[in-house]
Amino acid sequence: MTEPLMIGVDLGGTKIAFAAVDRAGNVIVEHVLATRAAEGADAVIGRIAQGINDVAAKAGRPVRGVGIGSPGAIDVKRGVIINAVNLNWLDVPLADGVKTLINMDVPVLVQNDVNVGAMGEFLFGAAQGIDDFVYLAVGTGLGGGAVSGGRLVSGVFGMAMEVGHVSINPHGRLCGCGTHGCAEMYISGKGLVAGAIEHLPAYPDSPLTNMTITTAAIVQADIDGDPLARRVVDEAGDALGEVMAWSVIMFNPSLLLIGGGMGKVLGERLIERARAAMSVRVYAPLLPFVQIGWSKVESTAVGAAALAWLNASDS
Ligand SMILES: [Zn+2]
Repeated sequence: MTEPLMIGVDLGGTKIAFAAVDRAGNVIVEHVLATRAAEGADAVIGRIAQGINDVAAKAGRPVRGVGIGSPGAIDVKRGVIINAVNLNWLDVPLADGVKTLINMDVPVLVQNDVNVGAMGEFLFGAAQGIDDFVYLAVGTGLGGGAVSGGRLVSGVFGMAMEVGHVSINPHGRLCGCGTHGCAEMYISGKGLVAGAIEHLPAYPDSPLTNMTITTAAIVQADIDGDPLARRVVDEAGDALGEVMAWSVIMFNPSLLLIGGGMGKVLGERLIERARAAMSVRVYAPLLPFVQIGWSKVESTAVGAAALAWLNASDS
């Protein structure tokens, strides 16, 4: 077994996940380390490099490249993190820092974490062979990535399709980013909780009044037919439908892929509502050509490895 591998890294605020992945998408070795961002960027970069070296040694096969999925704004060409709030990083030369510390002379690429999710779907997942698709990740927040003509649409800072922070209501719920009515304040785990809290006074009989409001409690109350929870999930579906409508008109994709833990939990209930909201907002003749599907690759580290594989096949 000497077939080469790529190592994908998912750099998160609390943990760093590693995956050594072959060209077919098989995960050969996995590894997880704590980020411990409070120790500073140099320490975190050291841990990333150590993790890559350990995974490579354990895999015992040639490694051809490294892909890193990172939150925040990224100078993708130079591999520099411009600003990552949850790591407290400003202008950190991540790719160069890792490259000097690993035991191999291979390309190190950095890209936005949701964009690498889209790359994972493109190479190994639900978008294989599909050159025009949009990936929407409904998790704690909302992220997006687009592939157009077989190429990732990255943008200057890897933030193209960062749809979570477009306002769909300038007078709406205040988002952590400082803007009112960001899409993710409606369609995400965070958005569901914010919606339940906002509407709670109008629903004194809701079971949610007597408990700590969590996404799990909202989802269960929706299943049980609670009017408050139904309203909140309906709003989430409407917001997703609006984002899907923009996606359809901007990229004319043949596939909208919904991913993220929260999206999967809400399932078809969410999709039905979103489909209806999309269909009244978008040029109707495009709609029959757009499929809506579920993402398959759950690991951002595997997506980061896909980024590395796709780069290798380009050059
Ligand atoms: Zn925002």
